[in-house]
Amino acid sequence: MPRRPLVDGFCFLCRTNGLMVVWVGPVETDGMQAPVYACEPCCEFARRYIEHHQRAQDMQPAS
Ligand SMILES: [Zn+2]
Repeated sequence: MPRRPLVDGFCFLCRTNGLMVVWVGPVETDGMQAPVYACEPCCEFARRYIEHHQRAQDMQPAS
């Protein structure tokens, strides 16, 4: 999978402006959405969060 381009912008996760960030997806509320970008340390946090969530899902019994 090609790496997403880094752009100079706002990290949604640590709420810091002027960082090199990548697009990580949209956020949605009340039918509206906006693009979200995150810096590398926050992307690493998100990867660990996703891995943890995935492991928790894998531990659930089949229903
Ligand atoms: Zn950040």
